[in-house]
Amino acid sequence: MAEKKDKTSWFRRASQGVTSRFSKPQAHPRRRLVVLSGPTAVGKGTVEAALTKAHPQVWVSVSATTRAPRPGEVDGKTYYFLTEEQFEQMRRNNEFLETAIVHNMAHYGTPLQPVLDHLQEGVPTILEIDLQGARRVRERAAELGLDVLFVFLAPPSFDDLITRLAERGTENPEQRMKRLATARVELAAEKEFDVVITNTHVDEAAEELWRVICQEYGVDPETGK
Ligand code: 5GP
Repeated sequence: MAEKKDKTSWFRRASQGVTSRFSKPQAHPRRRLVVLSGPTAVGKGTVEAALTKAHPQVWVSVSATTRAPRPGEVDGKTYYFLTEEQFEQMRRNNEFLETAIVHNMAHYGTPLQPVLDHLQEGVPTILEIDLQGARRVRERAAELGLDVLFVFLAPPSFDDLITRLAERGTENPEQRMKRLATARVELAAEKEFDVVITNTHVDEAAEELWRVICQEYGVDPETGK
């Protein structure tokens, strides 16, 4: 409990001065924030993991969530696992770039300051968030002076999503039904995105994403420089 209190205050300290920094637009053609979104269970997390394994210079934002950790998930690495009160406190302090309630079950949010810091340093920066979050980032981009590229990860088919969700085995049947209902609606959002990558093979999708990032950051895909 004490540890979580500290964590929230760390966010609070880290976010001081955000308003003044962002009264000046930070947009830079070589520092475009990449938002990776797509339907539930399409494999965003898996593609992201393959990308960062092959290209560790990419930084993926660590979200905060009120959902319980799953086996193997590490606080501060997979997510910042917060109580409802801690999450609400951060929201009140304007420490989030965006928040969403995902699958009507838990709050998720992107801490703003670490994103700004990485972009400022020219580090290729990615958010892996749901569709509501992607829309919220779009709404706030101008206010924050952010230049954003929206990438949609699509499944080869809806049947493929059903299989992936069942194989993942992290949800009970009721949760699976909810997630599939959300996914059906989310699939129609593809047209709102700048780039669409189909996740037929994880490594190929990750490489495609890498090439997109390289283009945005002026990096050579072969050398990473
Ligand atoms: P999971 O609970 O399976 O890790 O994630 C559920 C969904 O929440 C995924 O679609 C994931 O992309 C999304 N998500 C993770 N972090 C965030 C966040 O910070 N904001 C939003 N809007 N969605 C998130």
